[in-house]
Amino acid sequence: MKYLIVLAVVVVAIWVWRQNRREEAQERAAARPRAVPGPQAMLRCAHCGVHLPAADAVAGRQGSYCSETHRRLGET
Ligand SMILES: [Zn+2]
Repeated sequence: MKYLIVLAVVVVAIWVWRQNRREEAQERAAARPRAVPGPQAMLRCAHCGVHLPAADAVAGRQGSYCSETHRRLGET
């Protein structure tokens, strides 16, 4: 019976330790995007020449555009 109690304590201790490790990993994963923002790639609209982040650009046959309207105007 004594060994059962010791075993239970060890199992709980391992479980708590693993929970803590998982939380730490989640915190690290959540902190990563904020810690490393990185330089943002800028593109130039092929129609009006405005500079915009690559994520907001509209890709066209002749380059990148600031909006769907300029893509249409630039390619017709
Ligand atoms: Zn434009």
